[in-house]
Formats: sequence, structure tokens, C-alpha cells
Amino acid sequence: MPRPILATVHTAALQQNLARVRQSVPDARVWAVVKANAYGHGIERVFEGLRGADGFALLDLAEAERVRRLGWRGPILLLEGVFEPRDLELCSRLDLWHAVHCDEQIDMLAAHKTQLPQRVFLKMNSGMNRLGFTPERYRSAWTRLNALPQVDEISLMTHFSDADGPRGIAYQEEAFLRATADLPGERSLANSAATLRHAERARIKSDWVRPGIVLYGSAPDFPEHSAADWGLQPTMTLSSKLLAVQSLQAGDSVGYGSRFVAEQPLRVGVAACGYADGYSRLCDTGTPVLVNGVRTRLLGRVSMDMLMLDLTPLEHAGVPFGFGSEVTLWGRSSQGTTLPIDEVARAAGTVGYELMCAVAPRVNFGVD
Ligand code: PLP
Repeated sequence: MPRPILATVHTAALQQNLARVRQSVPDARVWAVVKANAYGHGIERVFEGLRGADGFALLDLAEAERVRRLGWRGPILLLEGVFEPRDLELCSRLDLWHAVHCDEQIDMLAAHKTQLPQRVFLKMNSGMNRLGFTPERYRSAWTRLNALPQVDEISLMTHFSDADGPRGIAYQEEAFLRATADLPGERSLANSAATLRHAERARIKSDWVRPGIVLYGSAPDFPEHSAADWGLQPTMTLSSKLLAVQSLQAGDSVGYGSRFVAEQPLRVGVAACGYADGYSRLCDTGTPVLVNGVRTRLLGRVSMDMLMLDLTPLEHAGVPFGFGSEVTLWGRSSQGTTLPIDEVARAAGTVGYELMCAVAPRVNFGVD
């Protein structure tokens, strides 16, 4: 028997979340962002749920090859573009779009002698200050690319820094639209937050959107709305089982560092999940967990392979527990209750993105 820790990827939830994106921006085409191994879910495991997208956006050639091996013949976009000249050959062979964000990538294209045309998304740094040409330098980059016989088609893109925050997207959107007003080509601006939160903006409605996190049923870092409020469903359940039940007296402590001390007699469950499985050690006493579908809390420090839970709510509810009881770290329990990954992320002081991406290779994966 494998160790009882399992990450289950929910195909129907992926389909539902994609439908939710389409409902928000019915005229836009959707790049389903599957970088970082589909936000930790596994590209192969999400493919069935996301094959209704118009294209897949990802990071590197190895991921692109995996998507092609699944039989996908539609568009694929390399979000950071190429790293070395020989990547361009593979871009042609795999029929990829690739981002161009710096002069060095244009130099590589200029030096590349090929029969096969290259299709690029020219990236603007409209305020994020991560990748791309500034609005002032964008046109000259476009003109240089446009003069290259190797380049067949140029589309235009930028990335928002604060679509989920108070600053919003207007300052970047305006800079982008001003600098690209008379340039031909398709445009791609919106990530998840912009797709749901700023869906009324004309450019977001009609061009390519690039949602990632919402497809995986987690909200971007909005303070005001949960993923469920947006009609999103969890696409990953991380579940485990109880390995042991301990009976504590008042004054007894739990785990490394004795960080939790019982004030009264307490039943404590020990679950097979620790930070070596990707469960954050920043989660501490109080982080929500489900046992047999009943919501309870973590006690004390997360160990490498185990964590401890308060079984009092199950006793109060008259729900039996013991060795082998189901523990849901996030996602859906078999009893039908749900624990959003975003709640666990909040307890760890991070975001759902990080928890999904951190699920460790030693965890068993399944798809339903
Ligand atoms: N587009 C680009 C260029 C990105 O880097 C990312 C993710 O960081 C996305 C789209 C998707 O972002 P999100 O998961 O917030 O929708």
C-alpha cells in the first residue's frame, strides 16, 4: 500500500471553471495557463478538463512538448519566450507562439536562418517591471521584429501587476493601449484577476485572456471575494488518513516545540501529511482541516511527515473517528464538505498558488 496521501485532480471542476471564465468574457479567446506543471496539478492530469480552451500558455519547451504529445494541435504560447538560439528551431517544429520581451531575443531571431516562420507575442512592460519593453521602446522593438523575414506574425501582450489589488489595471491598460494604438496584431492583456474583476473593459472582453489561478478554483489575492463567490470550484483535493489517535490530559503538549498545550483533556489525531508533502510548515494551530468531513483545526507544528489535529468537533458532532479516518487538507471531503485551499493559504500567510505548486512529488496523484 502506498502511504495514504493523495492529491486528486477534479476534471469536472476544471471544466466548470473554464466555463466560468468564458461566461465572464464571452468574446475573448482563452489561453489556459498551465505553467509550473499546471500549477502543481500535472499537465497531463488537467488536459481533459482544460482542452476546451483556445490555447495553452506555459513556460518552457519541455512543457510544450508534453502538451503536443497529448495530441493538442491548437495554439501554444511560451510566456517567457526562448532562452537560446536553438530553442527557435524547436518553436518552429512544435508550432509555438513565443513571447519576445528583450533585445537579446530579437537578436536571436535576427540571426536565425530558417525556412519555418516564427510567431511572436511582443511583450510590453507597462508597469509590472518584470519582463518586456517599456512603452517608449515598444514601437522600435516592433519595427525591428516586423522587418525580419523570419517573423511571420506579431501579436501584442502585457501583464498586470495589480489586477487583484487596489491600484487596478487602468494605469497599465492605458499605457499599453496608447503605445499600441496603431499597431496591427492581436492583443493579450488579462490574467485571472483582470478576467473576472475587470471583465467590462473592452480590450479584455475581445482579445486573448490568460487565466491561470481561477481555472484551478482558487481566487487571486482579492480581499473581498472568495473563489466560491466567483462560482469557482476546487480542482485539487489533498487528502490523507489518520495514523494514530492520542489522548491528552490538561497540560500535555503536542508536537515539536510544544507549541500547543491542552487546557483540558483532548483527543488528537495524527495525519500522514507533513511539510515534505508540500503542506506548509507556516500553518500552525488553528489552520482549518476536515476529518471525516467535519471541520476542525491543526494543533502545533507541522512535522516533516505528519501533522496533528483536534478531534473535539467530531466528538461534539458524534462523528466516529479512528485509525484510517479521512483527513482533507484542502478540497472536497467524501462527505461533501469543502475546505477552500485559499483558507489554508491565508493561515500560512500565503496564496493558493504557492500551496498548489508546492505539492511534493512523493504525494500520490489521481484524477476523477
Ligand atoms: N500571464 C502571465 C504572463 C503570467 O506570468 C501569469 C502568471 O503569473 C498568468 C498569465 C496567469 O496569472 P494568474 O494565475 O494570476 O491568472
